[in-house]
Amino acid sequence: MAEPDWMAEVRALVGKAYGRVYAWDPVNAPMIRHWCEMMGIANPAYLDAGSPEAVARGGLVAPATMLQVWGLEGATLNNYPPGSTTENPYEALKLLEAHGFPSVVAVNSDLEFERELRLGEKLYYTTQLDSIGEQKTTALGSGFFVTLKMTYWAQQPGGADEEVGRQLFRVFKFKPAQAARPAPAGAAATAPPKVLRPAPGISDDTRFFWDGTRAGQLLIQRCTGCGALRHPPGPVCPACHSFEWDTLQASGLGRVYSFVVMHYPEVPPFEYPNPVALVELDEGTRLVAQLVGIAPGEVAIGQRVRVEFATFDTADGGSIALPQFRPLAA
Ligand code: ZN
Repeated sequence: MAEPDWMAEVRALVGKAYGRVYAWDPVNAPMIRHWCEMMGIANPAYLDAGSPEAVARGGLVAPATMLQVWGLEGATLNNYPPGSTTENPYEALKLLEAHGFPSVVAVNSDLEFERELRLGEKLYYTTQLDSIGEQKTTALGSGFFVTLKMTYWAQQPGGADEEVGRQLFRVFKFKPAQAARPAPAGAAATAPPKVLRPAPGISDDTRFFWDGTRAGQLLIQRCTGCGALRHPPGPVCPACHSFEWDTLQASGLGRVYSFVVMHYPEVPPFEYPNPVALVELDEGTRLVAQLVGIAPGEVAIGQRVRVEFATFDTADGGSIALPQFRPLAA
C-alpha cells in the first residue's frame, strides 16, 4: 500500500543517534549480588572475590547479561543522572502514536556483549533508531515494526570510551484491529482475510477429548486404577500414578465455578465482550470454556449451565469442535 505523506517524517528519523544516558552507579558488588540472587546464579566470579574464578579475572566481575541493569532509571520514570541527554529516543514511536497507531507490544530483544564488566567501571549508553519496517497487518492490528539499538560504553579516563555491548529492541506499534477505519466504498475486494481460530495442539494424551467434541460428547479422562477423574488430560493419574485410563462421557451439566468477561484488547475472531467461564461439571472436574446465550453482565457464579458444541474453521485449514456452555433456563 502507498504510505501516507506523514510517514516520510517518521522514516527520516531512521539512523538518528541520540545522546548519552549515564548509569546512576558504577559497576558495583551489591547490585551484582542482588541480581544474582534474583536470577538464581551462584557463579563465584560474580560473588566471591577470593574465589579462584574471581582471582583469575583480577577481581569480581559483573555478569555480562546484566548489561541493561546499569542504565536503568530506577523507580521514577525518566529519572536519569545529570549530564544525560534530554532528547527522547522514542520520538518515532510518539509520531506513530500521533498518527493513529497508539498500541505497542514488545516483539523481541537481542543482547550482545564484548566482555564482562569490572567493579568501578562507569557506563553510559547511546540509542539509535535502527529501522522501521513496511506497514504490516497482524492479528493484533496494522502497524510498524520499529527497532531501536542501544550501545553501551565504558568510560575510559583520558582515552577513547570502549564499546562493551549492544541491546536491540523491536516493538510493534499498531492500530488495534477493532479501531481500523471503515473501508471506503468499493474497497471490499481488498478487505483483509477473515481471522480464524488457532488449532489446539493435539497429542496422544488429548486426542480423545477432541474426537469426543467432534462427536458431540464431552469426555472426561478416568483412571482405571483408582477411578479418579481428571482434566485437563494427562498420561498419569495424579492420585495413584497409574498410566491406565479410559473415559467417562459427562452429562454436560455443570455450574459456573468462576468467570471473566474479556473486554479488551479485542482480538479477532472472538466477539466482545467475551464471557469465559471455569465450569465445574457435575462429575467434579472443571474446564475452561466460552459462555454463550447470556449477556456478559448477567454471568453469575453458581449459575447452572449445559454444554453444547460449535464447529469452527481453524487457521491450519482444518476445523475444531469446541465445547461451549449455555445457561439452563431457570
Ligand atoms: Zn488413579
